[in-house]
Amino acid sequence: MMLDGIDTWLRTAATKVHEEAPALTALDQAIGDGDHGINLDRGFTAIVAMLNARVPAEARAAESPAAASDLLRQVGRTLISTVGGASGPLYGTAFLRAAAAVANDGASSATAYVAALEAAATGVGALGKATTGEKTMLDALVPAAAAARAALDGGSDIAGVTAAARDAAEAGSEATIPLLATKGRASYLGERSIGHRDPGSASTALLLGVLADVAARA
Ligand code: ADP
Ligand code: MG
Repeated sequence: MMLDGIDTWLRTAATKVHEEAPALTALDQAIGDGDHGINLDRGFTAIVAMLNARVPAEARAAESPAAASDLLRQVGRTLISTVGGASGPLYGTAFLRAAAAVANDGASSATAYVAALEAAATGVGALGKATTGEKTMLDALVPAAAAARAALDGGSDIAGVTAAARDAAEAGSEATIPLLATKGRASYLGERSIGHRDPGSASTALLLGVLADVAARA
């Protein structure tokens, strides 16, 4: 995944997060404290400001795994310092882990993307002390990483790999509806968390959906 693609993804995601912020917040009103859309919108606004502050010529000159890694690391730091809540450190860690994974990956975009997604899922699970089936963003992220890996192994290119991740994330998010929350604020509701989609899984599906759109157009 090279710089232009990451830049386009983040900017497109910022627009989409802004549009969908009320819907994400409504999900969080049902089983949390109603700030998830607001939190992410603040974070992605800060990411766009960070992107705009980067020197374009310098950024473009460095089309390398190291440059992609630097950008993803800055995104992670920005999310940690601006998003707050549970999701700020979790998404921030996802990007920091992705940054580390792509730094070590000089191979094709599809290979780097799968390594980044797997590292992100592992990082979120470790920080959140959570696994799948607990009604969190991991219910979108973990199946997305697995589907991306399967698509890569089956010979898919970046468009196919990102589409597989998008579809698995969406299905995984949908599948959080009947789950009982055992992590985060939603767990305080116990049985009353059942019947609602987890907001973090919805935002993960949104972000991976935008990435697949961008990859399909590249
Ligand atoms: P907060 O819960 O602090 O208000 P947000 O509303 O921004 O933070 O984010 C809530 C989302 O964070 C949840 O929908 C869930 O997907 C995710 N989340 C919360 N706790 C964890 C955890 N321990 N592990 C993984 N994801 C979590
Ligand atoms: Mg919240």
